[in-house]
Amino acid sequence: MTDFKPALSATADGAGIDLHTHTTASDGTLAPDALVARARAAGVGLLAITDHDTTAGYRALDPARHPGITVVPGVELSCLWRRLGIHVVGLAVDPHAPAMTAACRHQAAARAARATVLAERLARQGVGDALAGARREAGEAELGRVHFARFLVRTGAARDMQRAFRRYLRDDASTLAAWPSLAVAIDWIHAAGGIAVLAHPAKYRLTRGRLEHLAEAFRAAGGDALEVISGCQSEHLTRELAALARRHALGASQGSDFHQPGQAWAALGALPPLPRGTSPVWRTTTR
Ligand code: MN
Ligand code: MN
Ligand code: MN
Repeated sequence: MTDFKPALSATADGAGIDLHTHTTASDGTLAPDALVARARAAGVGLLAITDHDTTAGYRALDPARHPGITVVPGVELSCLWRRLGIHVVGLAVDPHAPAMTAACRHQAAARAARATVLAERLARQGVGDALAGARREAGEAELGRVHFARFLVRTGAARDMQRAFRRYLRDDASTLAAWPSLAVAIDWIHAAGGIAVLAHPAKYRLTRGRLEHLAEAFRAAGGDALEVISGCQSEHLTRELAALARRHALGASQGSDFHQPGQAWAALGALPPLPRGTSPVWRTTTR
């Protein structure tokens, strides 16, 4: 197994560090090479590619073509916690480790099961052939809800992506059923040599109390760090998440969650510094 953690600790300060991005291997719009080139041009020196449930984007990359930027292999695993879909980012995972291969295989099966459920639901709502349509949108990528949304917009069943998600693609017990628990996902990441990070904690819209429980459950399941900064967010939220990480003895990570150019809230590498008193994952790479 290759140890990717030294690459993660290569840079000493938070400037130019973006540890959460997507490529065309999942639901991003840039191919891996284009993403890395764009990140470098934006001043990123340390980049993690964290596609949903696959490392294919990283594996397709030739690091030699990108001097001046360190690219760390990562993954963003979909999980289930208390009937909620939660994302766990794995950083510095060995994409060739048996545990990572097994994880991605499991997640691909879960995605296929979810796609069938979504297509059946769409058929009941009067939209036919959605599975084939979404597959066409996905091409080589891991099939996700975004591909159903693009299909719905293209065929005129929904006016825009937001409406497609709201009207047709909401998560419920049937679409979440196949995802692993936090503990299983964290174990996969650790077995592949990686660091387990609770992604974008504010995105789940939890009450303060529930968020506290999630952080506690994540730590209890073996989690290592929390994404204290996710894209453009208020200083207030950053301070709250830094305090949450400290309370639960979790490290701190940061990432744009970049999917495509033009999203102002998720520009590559445009991240404020982590607050004092946090333990950045690129400094504390061993538990
Ligand atoms: Mn996504
Ligand atoms: Mn996510
Ligand atoms: Mn993401």
